[in-house]
Amino acid sequence: MKFDLIIIGSGVMGSFHAYHALNFGKKVLIIDRNSKANQASVRNFGQAVTSGLSLNEWHSYGRRSSELYLDLEKKAGLPVRQNGSFYIANTPGELAVLEELQQRFLAVDYACELWDKSTVLKHFPAIQESYALGALVFKQEMSIEPEFMVNRLREFMVEQMGLQQEMNCLIQQVKSSSDRVEVTSNTGRKFEAEHLLICNGMELQQLYPELFVASDLEVCRLQMISLKNPGVQLPGNILTGLSIRRYESFRECEAWKNLDSHGLSSEYDEKGIHILFKQRPDGSIILGDSHDYLNAEDAHNFSFLHDVHTDSLMLQEAKRIAKFDRWEPEYTWSGYYSQCKNNDLFEANPEPRVNVITGIGGKGMTTTAGLAEARIRSMYSLASS
Ligand SMILES: Cc1cc2nc3c(=O)[nH]c(=O)nc-3n(C[C@H](O)[C@H](O)[C@H](O)COP(=O)(O)OP(=O)(O)OC[C@H]3O[C@@H](n4cnc5c(N)ncnc54)[C@H](O)[C@@H]3O)c2cc1C
Repeated sequence: MKFDLIIIGSGVMGSFHAYHALNFGKKVLIIDRNSKANQASVRNFGQAVTSGLSLNEWHSYGRRSSELYLDLEKKAGLPVRQNGSFYIANTPGELAVLEELQQRFLAVDYACELWDKSTVLKHFPAIQESYALGALVFKQEMSIEPEFMVNRLREFMVEQMGLQQEMNCLIQQVKSSSDRVEVTSNTGRKFEAEHLLICNGMELQQLYPELFVASDLEVCRLQMISLKNPGVQLPGNILTGLSIRRYESFRECEAWKNLDSHGLSSEYDEKGIHILFKQRPDGSIILGDSHDYLNAEDAHNFSFLHDVHTDSLMLQEAKRIAKFDRWEPEYTWSGYYSQCKNNDLFEANPEPRVNVITGIGGKGMTTTAGLAEARIRSMYSLASS
């Protein structure tokens, strides 16, 4: 069977491109090496935080993605909750950044509220009085259950939209000509389409490795912790002082240049630690994260060891922020994403009819639904809505 579009990769990047192509009436085949998506798109926090993005096209992709998520929650039962994002400041410098950012967002009609200390503590009795100075709140933002969302979306597309899928299928070869493109799996199976889209995430060794080695792509590893239900309620996406120092939207503020010290040991900066909490519907909490990096050619050479010291630094800072009845890690994991050192995304057209799109970094859950819509429209020369 010949398809209009073959997509390699069933993470959020591949799945949302499939969704939009199907909506435009295309015959689509999605292929993944695993029986279901199990890379970055299921290992993340599930925080859809447009508030953390630069105020450029990424802000628009974030806003559009939220609309799409809400629509898909109704249509496909995607596990998303519109329960807000809360950035809690710990130092006067962080609070000054929040005050400036509020004005920047209000200027583009993106609703947010600044809460003083007592309002934060009233809404979040689980936050330490000694930590919170104030918070910037985006009530419209949402959280996603990452363990389920992207695979649920794929199932919906297979059941209701005619998506074809080949899972457990590693693609190792691409051959393109003027009128078609053919891909071949490691077991010799062949599939053919008019176009191929490679949404390979952090897998930079299988297809066009020379393209990736010559690029500024790198792979980031993040350590994550799951805590058993600590007996408190922490709705929405909770982000804290170290995130205010890290995310793009905050870095663009004048006040960010005059930030005071966070007062923590230099290890927090060296290990790229910032503390985020996301409570799952069953009460357990995703807590993270840390960041370390390897260049594209080394992307499979991360140590297999889980660094317990990094976990203890995260837990130590988390305890300074939140007062839980119990702190019981139930498991830990590492997640990996690719990102460019100098760009927001990696896009290439290595052969006729073949496009690669990866390297979206830490913003894929927030922006991909909207980004993919724009890319599918331009791929098929459809006017923007
Ligand atoms: C720990 C962690 C926390 C994060 N938290 C957030 C967050 O809160 N909010 C947010 O917006 N973003 C977050 N992110 C980022 C987000 O998860 C990623 O940007 C996004 O999931 C990337 O999606 P992807 O589809 O490009 O890659 P992936 O999810 O890695 O998918 C790529 C897929 O391609 C398949 N594949 C690759 N090569 C082949 C081949 N040759 N043949 C067959 N299959 C192939 C792989 O098997 C894989 O399933 C986080 C990421 C991590 C790791």
